[in-house]
Amino acid sequence: MRKITLSNGKTVEVECLSCALTSGLIEPDGGVVLETEYFHAHQDVAYPIKGLIILASKRHIKCFDELTEEEKIDYIQVLSKIRKAQRNVLGIEYVYYFYNEDTTHHFHTWMVPRYDWMYEFGRSVESVRPVLLYARNKMNSNVNIQEVTAAIDLLTRELNS
Ligand SMILES: [Zn+2]
Repeated sequence: MRKITLSNGKTVEVECLSCALTSGLIEPDGGVVLETEYFHAHQDVAYPIKGLIILASKRHIKCFDELTEEEKIDYIQVLSKIRKAQRNVLGIEYVYYFYNEDTTHHFHTWMVPRYDWMYEFGRSVESVRPVLLYARNKMNSNVNIQEVTAAIDLLTRELNS
């Protein structure tokens, strides 16, 4: 078991955070944005960036080649559907995708929208970690959290309509 501190400050002990989220044991702040037979999408509000989505598989797997044929099809469909919703309701022009197989949780893809302020941290992969840390440490004002929450609601409505 590992102790994990959630974005709301609560501490939980779980084997795998992704399992806890996708099974509903932990309810993400802002709720579930989209759920399918094989995948689960939510925003990690610990990183308050409008439209940032984490797409996790429901099965406890780590690597891309562990996906079944059905999961592969669902994955690309869900990923594209979320991408389209980010564009349609939030006007997001570009998204960075990040996924590492040596995760301490399980298979999940970060969809990080690209905003103009992020370019001061670089133009490519080297900017992702500094951008996330900046968001976590400097953008956690009530006003911004409210905007992020409103964006989650917009995405959730668009994706489930
Ligand atoms: Zn898991």
